[in-house]
Formats: sequence, C-alpha cells, structure tokens
Amino acid sequence: MEIKTIGVVGAGTMGNGIAQVFAYHGFDVIMSDVSAAALERGLATIKKSLERLASKEKIPVDAPAATLARICSTTRLEDFARADFVVEAVVEHEALKLDLFRQLDGLCKPEVVLASNTSSIPITRLAAVTRRPAQVIGMHFMNPVPLMELVEIIRALQTADETYALVEDLARRIAKTPVEVKDAYGFVSNRVLMPMINEAIFALHEGLATPEAIDTVMKLGMNHPMGPLALADLIGLDTCLNIMNVLYTGFNDSKYRPCPLLKQMVDAGWLGRKTGRGFYTYDK
Ligand code: NAD
Repeated sequence: MEIKTIGVVGAGTMGNGIAQVFAYHGFDVIMSDVSAAALERGLATIKKSLERLASKEKIPVDAPAATLARICSTTRLEDFARADFVVEAVVEHEALKLDLFRQLDGLCKPEVVLASNTSSIPITRLAAVTRRPAQVIGMHFMNPVPLMELVEIIRALQTADETYALVEDLARRIAKTPVEVKDAYGFVSNRVLMPMINEAIFALHEGLATPEAIDTVMKLGMNHPMGPLALADLIGLDTCLNIMNVLYTGFNDSKYRPCPLLKQMVDAGWLGRKTGRGFYTYDK
C-alpha cells in the first residue's frame, strides 16, 4: 500500500510537531484531538514554527502555506478510516492509550500500521489489545520534532519485520535518523534521560544549588546543549512524572522513584513551558 495520508492522534507538544514534519515532507495529514482548543493551539504552533524556519531560510518561503494546506484537523477519530498510517501522541496514560489502540484497530483499514509515540509504555501491551499485533510499533520522536533528528523505533515482541521496515523507511522519508530498540520500559532514550532529570530535581529539592547553577553544571561541565531542568520544562513536568512512574512501577525498583518536588509541581499545575511556569517562568 502506498502511504499518502498520515493520521496523528493528539495535537499537543509532540502531535503537532509530528503532523508538521509529515506534512512538510509531502504527506497529507489528519490531526485529531479530543479538544478543539488543543487543535487550534496545535495548528497555531505549526504555523509559527514553519514561519520561523522560513524566516531563517531553513525552508523555502512558500513551504509554510503549502505545508499547512496538507493538514486537516478533526475531533472525530472516525476520520482515521481514510488514514494509511497512524501515529498516536496523546497523554502518557496507559489505560487511555490501550483504549485508543482498541478504537483505532476497529476504525482503520486492516493493512494500516499503528505506531505509538509513547515515551515509556511497553509497545507489546498496546499491540496485544489489537487484532493486528504484528502491525503495531513504537515510533518515538524527540522534542522539538521539527528540529530533532532521532526517531527511536521500538519493536514490540509481536512486531513483524515488514512493519519495522516500513516505519524505518517512513522515518528516512521525513529526514529523520531511525535507531532500532527493543521494547522495555522507557526504551533507551528515557531509561537514560529521565533518571538524570529526576536526579537534577532531587539536587534542587535538597537545596544543593539553584536551577540555573544545576543547569550550568551540566551545560558547561558535560557539554549538554541544555540543562536538565530547562529540558524538563520543555518536555512537560507531567510527562516527566508519568515516565518516572512507568519506570518505577514497571521495573519495581526504588532507584526510579520520582522526586517529591516533581510530584508537587505537577500537583500545582506548574508543568513547564506549556503552562508558562516550571523550574523557570516563560511568557505564554
Ligand atoms: P501534551 O499534553 O502536550 O498533548 C497531548 C494531547 O493529547 C492533548 O492535546 C490532549 O488533548 C490530547 N488527548 C488526550 N486524550 C486524547 C484522545 N483520547 N484522543 C485524542 N487526543 C487526546 O503531551 P505530549 O508532550 O505531546 O506527549 C504526547 C505523547 O508523546 C506522550 O505519550 C509522551 O510520553 C510522548 N512524548 C513526549 C515528549 C515530550 O518531550 N513532550 C517526547 C517524546 C514523546
């Protein structure tokens, strides 16, 4: 089957980035969300990102309009009946994703591959609730999607070789570099990254240093382009907490316990850039 139309579920931080990248590379995109306001915000983010790239001459001047014209937005998941490939990017909650995969399995054409952008939930479990487990896979983009080159491709226990080959090819067609990873909590990226971020939050919680000082240590000392606390704000503190909880309960190992300060900030609704306040404050 020729893949022309990509369905993206979720128009948040990751979903709108994924929609932008596929549309920029010539695919038609259906972007869905349960919230009409989230769709509006997602489209506005895509427009702004494309205009910024065009103003820096990273993409042609006519690309923003052409890319936006290939994206349609909807609150009706039924519209995915015409998608040729689906990437799910809704909030990091296992029950929600399981329910969504059941629905997508019922709605989408039988030959369609269903991919999840989950940061940590086992793809094997998502595959198991569908009648097409060999066609379920992880396609884990990095944030911000239009700028980051890596896509971690996660093979569930059930994933067929053809499914892997198709997703690897798609990743290359949107100018990303795919890396093959086996299915385990957090895969490789978040198994390594999130405990580092969590430890930086513990350092702040224990009063070892200010957020700026902690980030400066990692930037100047370890050559990280961004400090762990600024990165947590970019990722979203709710997403960070969800991932730590998946690692903690999944491996049943106390070394993954989320820092109490992270939990408290999520309780306060201080989720990072998306709410204007996290470890730093941002103009909305
Ligand atoms: P987000 O909170 O910014 O966006 C999630 C969106 O999903 C929201 O707009 C919400 O309205 C929508 N949604 C919720 N339930 C839905 C449903 N049933 N159908 C359709 N839409 C629904 O979250 P995000 O940061 O974009 O994360 C999305 C996924 O990507 C998560 O699985 C996360 O772990 C993963 N991820 C996030 C990052 C990151 O840096 N933020 C990086 C890689 C992967």
